[in-house]
Amino acid sequence: MIQNSLYLHIPFCKQACHYCDFHFSTNLKTKEGVLAQMHLELESKALLSPWKSTTLKSVYFGGGTPSILASSELKELLNAIKSLFSYAHDMEVTLEANPDDITLDKLNSWHDLGINRLSVGIQSFHETELKACNRAHDSSMAHSALEMINASAFSNFSIDLIYGMIGSSITSWKENLDLAYSYAPSHISCYILAVEKRTVLDKQVRTGEVVLPSDHIALQQFADLREWAKIHNYEHYELSNFSQPGRHSIHNKHYWSYQPYLGIGPGAHSFNGEQRSWNVSNNIRYAKGEAGDHENLSVQEKLNERLMVRLHTSDGFILSRDLDPLGLNPDMTARFTYNIKNALEQGKIIEIPGGFRISASDWIVSDRIISDLFIED
Ligand code: SF4
Repeated sequence: MIQNSLYLHIPFCKQACHYCDFHFSTNLKTKEGVLAQMHLELESKALLSPWKSTTLKSVYFGGGTPSILASSELKELLNAIKSLFSYAHDMEVTLEANPDDITLDKLNSWHDLGINRLSVGIQSFHETELKACNRAHDSSMAHSALEMINASAFSNFSIDLIYGMIGSSITSWKENLDLAYSYAPSHISCYILAVEKRTVLDKQVRTGEVVLPSDHIALQQFADLREWAKIHNYEHYELSNFSQPGRHSIHNKHYWSYQPYLGIGPGAHSFNGEQRSWNVSNNIRYAKGEAGDHENLSVQEKLNERLMVRLHTSDGFILSRDLDPLGLNPDMTARFTYNIKNALEQGKIIEIPGGFRISASDWIVSDRIISDLFIED
């Protein structure tokens, strides 16, 4: 049975973080209509191939801010999923939760619903850093949310942190890591602050209102993160992801495996093995049932995507797993082999049994190395 992962995009937030370019709205007036349409979308997609013949191994409520939903709304979505899809008995069910939404009552009801993993958007424990990027929570809410999680039935939870953060230093970053560790998360995801086009942060940086830490500081923070992970026994298994032994994110690993995944909700993406499709990124239009769009991926695009994803993981790129199923023609094979040979000779990639990888310490600066391996049309 082919395995599948399901992503539900909950496109609502209390306030807009200055760096964010995800699809969300702070206007909750469309919530009912969006949720009703998500139920309709679940019902219709469950009947289609490949979703009707696949078994769910993970469900991920992302956003936006899924923890903004009432427990009754999450329950209705989970009930619909369980009645429409076949699913593994040990299915991972993750909820992204922001500290300002977390209460002991909510934690208990989420656990009772079958949610067995939380991803908590802490980003920083420092008041100035949180304020600078307009997060809805403050430092004391971050601490009390994690204290409540520690007192709850959730043993599997991830903390999100951001490095290269506005106003951060090498010292403040190390403090963030040590404070996160004091709550013993099973997983930690650390992202570098990216300046995305058309965000408030983009404007602030362009006008000089905000000056980000230098590349040198951000690279040192990444190096310190890796050192911290080694000391505290967190496996660095992907550029931004670290876990205690056996606690990798099943959902994320599914994305990196090129198996089909289904995305429900405004702006959500799906992949059926051949075609990528996406829903309209507008809550009102989505609620009215407007269709999204799709693209067919060429062999080159599939290969290049696989290189980009796999070479940011500790697994690396395995020829029998990642290349052979693509069926490259002899010309493409010759070009790809040439690129690999060059990169190996230059020491940019390392040979591993059955394939190659990039050293984890270089993942943060590896995009150029990876794009040199791409084959063009
Ligand atoms: S809470 Fe998350 S999705 Fe919402 S604005 Fe902030 S970063 Fe974006």
